[in-house]
Amino acid sequence: MAKLYFSYAAMNAGKSTLLLQASHNYRERGMNTILFTAALDDRAGITTIASRIGLKATAKLFSEGDDLFLAIKSDLEKQPINCIFVDEAQFLTKQQVWQLARVADRLGVPVMCYGLRTDFQGKLFPGSSELLAIADILREIRTICHCGAKATMVVRLGDDGAVLIEGDQVAIGGNERYVSLCRKHWEEKTGSWPVEEESSPTLEFELNGGGVGEASARCDGDIKNKRRGCPRVKHGQAQVGSKATNSLPRTRNGGNKIK
Ligand SMILES: [Zn+2]
Repeated sequence: MAKLYFSYAAMNAGKSTLLLQASHNYRERGMNTILFTAALDDRAGITTIASRIGLKATAKLFSEGDDLFLAIKSDLEKQPINCIFVDEAQFLTKQQVWQLARVADRLGVPVMCYGLRTDFQGKLFPGSSELLAIADILREIRTICHCGAKATMVVRLGDDGAVLIEGDQVAIGGNERYVSLCRKHWEEKTGSWPVEEESSPTLEFELNGGGVGEASARCDGDIKNKRRGCPRVKHGQAQVGSKATNSLPRTRNGGNKIK
């Protein structure tokens, strides 16, 4: 039975290299493969997957809304296909992951997906989330942090090399760089330690007499000063409802240090 595979890693672990090598192994034996990679904008058609060590191959682009099951089924009617490879699989939609599962289950073609597990905020990508849920075979591709430990997390760096803790999950056209770190150093770099308390008592905040405005000021100041905690509070954004109150009572974490 054909299977759906997901090989996941942090950045710069050599995912594309492994994909290209695996595809090459098929082709060397006279078998046919089709490669896909994410378009990330409105482009359509063909591109090249290149690895940092020089391997490259032609790939089709997938975008949100493409039906990969129908596309592959149509290709299969014209030629035999022995394996499908998908690079940047974190950008697949959940529906597309199911379409690829159907390719394995109903067309009998194995599908090998390669992608990032989490984004720079430590959150699962939609495609990775679904692949982790339903893929037949999960494989971790290892890379290492500067300390030598396994790197499982990614930080996004701005032009000045500073760690960015806010922004869209996918940054297109920017000059951001990404670095893979172990979880311990990711926490230190992003200021996510100590962990924000999810269920801080709202009552305590109300008794302290704080308002919504004060909530933003405290957390903003805290990010500026320490880059600690309150990762969901954006600069200059009015905080209303439970988000603001949840992130408020932070005395234990030094939330009252703002002058
Ligand atoms: Zn480390």
